[in-house]
Amino acid sequence: MKKIDEVLKQYYGYDSFRPGQERIIEAIMNGQDVLGIMPTGGGKSLCYQIPAICMEGTSLVISPLISLMKDQVDTLLTMGVRAGYINSQMDMATYRATMDKAMFGYYDLLYIAPERLESEYFLNTIQQMNINLVAVDEAHCISQWGQDFRPSYQNIPQLKDLIRLDVPFAAFTATATTRVKEDIIRQLKLQQPYTYVASFDRPNLYFSVIETKKKSQELFRYIEKEGSTIIYCNTRKNVEAVYHSLVKKGLPATYYHAGIAPEDRNQNQEDFIYDRKTIMVATNAFGMGIDKSNVRKVIHYNMPLDMESYYQEAGRAGRDGAPSQAVLLYSSQDIITNTFLIEQGNQPNAKEKLTQITSYCKTGKCLRSYILRYFDETPTFQECEHCSNCDGETEIIDVTVASQKILSCIYRMNQRFGTGMVTDVLRGKKNERIRQFQFDKLSTYGIMADTEEYLIKDIISFLISEGHLALSGDKYPILTFTTTSPHVLTGKEILSMVRKIREKPQKLIEKQTVTETEYDVSLFEKLRELRTKKAQEIGKPPFVVFTDRSLIDMAVRLPKTDEEFLEVHGVGESKRTTYGDEFMLVIQQHVKGRNE
Ligand code: ADP
Ligand code: MG
Ligand code: ZN
Repeated sequence: MKKIDEVLKQYYGYDSFRPGQERIIEAIMNGQDVLGIMPTGGGKSLCYQIPAICMEGTSLVISPLISLMKDQVDTLLTMGVRAGYINSQMDMATYRATMDKAMFGYYDLLYIAPERLESEYFLNTIQQMNINLVAVDEAHCISQWGQDFRPSYQNIPQLKDLIRLDVPFAAFTATATTRVKEDIIRQLKLQQPYTYVASFDRPNLYFSVIETKKKSQELFRYIEKEGSTIIYCNTRKNVEAVYHSLVKKGLPATYYHAGIAPEDRNQNQEDFIYDRKTIMVATNAFGMGIDKSNVRKVIHYNMPLDMESYYQEAGRAGRDGAPSQAVLLYSSQDIITNTFLIEQGNQPNAKEKLTQITSYCKTGKCLRSYILRYFDETPTFQECEHCSNCDGETEIIDVTVASQKILSCIYRMNQRFGTGMVTDVLRGKKNERIRQFQFDKLSTYGIMADTEEYLIKDIISFLISEGHLALSGDKYPILTFTTTSPHVLTGKEILSMVRKIREKPQKLIEKQTVTETEYDVSLFEKLRELRTKKAQEIGKPPFVVFTDRSLIDMAVRLPKTDEEFLEVHGVGESKRTTYGDEFMLVIQQHVKGRNE
């Protein structure tokens, strides 16, 4: 039997396991059930792939999405692993041929969608195969408490009647609350599973929260032509607006939301995955099952509704481990919109969750430690020195008096208006509506004429997030009092608000471009071109050939021999044989040109 650390080096070209991987692999190979919870990009696939490569027989991998299966199988094939998949989109002849191969034990790994378990023919074949492991990817899909419930996942346990009793089941997911975790164990009937919960820290991600009133302009500071970027917006309308503004500037963008016809949507998704377009503007409908490992940046154009969604979406950056960024553009308007949204719905805990992500946006302390504490971890550091707050500065301002002015104005306006109108009255604006309601006669009219509009709106959002104001209304959000509003008005509450001091744009940008090691960017570009060419030749996405991280490592190491090439991160035997000579040629030519 192959040794697991040798497989890691020989097939994957990696030097060491990430935390948890080795124990999980060993447990599986000892026949024990497993539940592995690791963040997106944490390296779950390898935990079931390596046992599959090492053990006699075929491992069955159940995976929810066709795109996900295809990418994984493509990657495995370029590594020289015998992997195949079956999905509903393949024609009958290919299906039969694959099943024939499966029957005589050709595959180390066979990927299937859960719906396949409804086919008699498939189940019959399974009984004749030598199955050594059932791996369930995205296992939270089995639970109705999770976000992506898939009824067909509930067919999985019946496999137990068709295969040997001692075959382990291994379940993996990135998101599992206690409830979902228990549900997975119960529904999949896992027997005393070895359970591993990885740290949610993602050291290669630089987190920033940028507060801005002018998102459409601000956005462009974070957009680069090179490097894949996902921009998440909260509505289809915003997706299209942002998409058009990028295209107008000649940027290689595409877009995705549930309102686009399926063919176009797939086309756009492929354009992004195959690096034909580097910027994807999308709603949160985009991303689940996108295994693209070289996303360099995830930008949130709007504040999401909760930390779970935020971290999952942001986590799509930098799966290959190379330095990447997660940027959240936020304005006080987001709090107002989101508060309104959750008041329309009836999700339990939605308010609390919104408060928590609002605090994330508002905090002046380390963002990374905020995230880890949110996910019940105790960070090993106070300051990570690698987020916009650790790099930036904050100030604390007393907003007690300002809050009193705002509340008394709202009171005088009979609690029937939203933030915009209240702000206008406080600043003493002259317009038709104000005259119509005679608000220019109020004692609070113009009492904050000296305060900038954004600051007033900030304080209003702050009051909402602290529970001193509520939003209600059917058509548009209206500011109303809560039980604590009077305490503020009567001076019982002293209020101080932490504000970030805005950095100069240039400084921020420099800081955000983090590189672990110096490398020759022009060589990296040449290697990228070659990668694109090679990927086109085999009709696969570029990251299947090499990840960005591998290319960067090549540009650092400048390998000259096969042995040196094997030292490159992510290069195993198969990739060396297939691609080594051509990539080394480009490297050597570049080095020669540089020395001349
Ligand atoms: P997920 O947990 O989200 O399914 P993947 O299995 O897709 O994550 O892994 C993310 C990336 O990390 C992949 O490119 C994978 O090859 C890489 N990776 C996994 N394990 C290691 C390791 N031990 N060393 C280096 N890279 C690894
Ligand atoms: Mg995965
Ligand atoms: Zn930090």
